[in-house]
Amino acid sequence: MSTPQPVRGTRDLIGEEARRHFHVIETARRVAALYGYDEWSTPIFEETGVFARGLGDTSDVVTKEMYTFTDRGGDSLTLRPEATAGVCRALVSNGLTQSLPQKIFYAGPMFRYERPQKGRYRQFHQIDIEVLGSDSPLADAEVIACGWHILQELGVAQDTVLELNTLGDKTSRDAYRAALVSYFLGHKDELSEDSIARLERNPLRVVDSKDEGDRRIVAHAPTIDGCLTEPAYAFFEKLQEHLARFGVPFRRNPRIVRGLDYYSHTAFEFVTTRLGAQGTVMGGGRYEGLVEEMGGPHTPCIGWAAGIERLSMLMAAAPPAPASVAIIPVGDAAEAAALDIAQSLRAAGIRAEMAYRGNLKRRMERANRTGARAAIILGESEIAGGLVQLKDLVSGEQAAVPVAELVRRLK
Ligand code: ATP
Ligand code: MG
Repeated sequence: MSTPQPVRGTRDLIGEEARRHFHVIETARRVAALYGYDEWSTPIFEETGVFARGLGDTSDVVTKEMYTFTDRGGDSLTLRPEATAGVCRALVSNGLTQSLPQKIFYAGPMFRYERPQKGRYRQFHQIDIEVLGSDSPLADAEVIACGWHILQELGVAQDTVLELNTLGDKTSRDAYRAALVSYFLGHKDELSEDSIARLERNPLRVVDSKDEGDRRIVAHAPTIDGCLTEPAYAFFEKLQEHLARFGVPFRRNPRIVRGLDYYSHTAFEFVTTRLGAQGTVMGGGRYEGLVEEMGGPHTPCIGWAAGIERLSMLMAAAPPAPASVAIIPVGDAAEAAALDIAQSLRAAGIRAEMAYRGNLKRRMERANRTGARAAIILGESEIAGGLVQLKDLVSGEQAAVPVAELVRRLK
């Protein structure tokens, strides 16, 4: 075998990339907890039917992008392309449909067979929140506000715009579908093959098309506004009021649709112009039929997912590597004392490292190379006197310090 490389569309996360990645997750986890979300984790693969439900789904994800395989037992399994379906399946499997609402935070890898490019991978990672079991527009507003809060904490909010739309209720959507079909049929010659194929089953998908030619037609397509029922309109008004109260700025974009049949009312995306074609950072909306399709009761839900890779790229600076205190024993006798010191610093919450071998010079070199902030140097004479040399590696200052004083001095 030649030297193995990561599979096309997958990446190793090391060093600065890893720090960015985990900073996104930790920040999102912390903020989601402030809003009362509990973290869940579900399996990375599921029965294929969890994602490909019946024949209704015309999304790219289900029709073209799934990693589906038959396992040794002959079952068709799929590496999850998104978190939402697994979360809804878990709600039902775990008998939680009577304990609603559930507010869930999620982070993990997702898999889609796509053409890899900047900001688009075959294994990528999402943070995700879902509120299962609420039909209040306050839930929509709070879900969006939580997403906005996370973007702010990551320092990327100013690079994004929240684009907001409504898909109304079923009556609104049926009317809108009919309006779209009649408009698109008038431009059938100019539409892409994909879009023509989708026209009958799900004309909303055409509005979502990324094909250049389609987009020109879509630009003049009717919007849903003329089709909204009174209650659907009122829901959208309430959402906008609540968002204003949360202080989340937004822009109406009637072209934002979520093509799946179970989406309703709210649809939104946080977009940026800084990532080229991969401009959607966070996307979400309200959906109703999914829990039912998993065998549960009709359950209104709202949620979003955001790509960690895209958030990492937007972040200005990577979080700095944490600086250690390097502990440097000189001579064998000092090594045991050095270990005790290392453990007492760690117990006090101070990152401390001791090289496994090497003389004073080598160990000092390593301390400098790894960006240690301080070095504690101890030889036999120092131990006898209960003192060590504490060297500040930023200022270069060095002083003899009693062992008992170390934690206080370093904090
Ligand atoms: P796109 O239009 O970019 O294909 P999508 O509509 O397929 O996105 P969603 O299914 O809504 O995306 O997923 C939510 C978020 O996950 C996206 O906004 C994006 O940030 C991220 N994402 C989706 N697919 C990928 C991918 N292949 N690589 C990296 N990030 C992705
Ligand atoms: Mg996609």
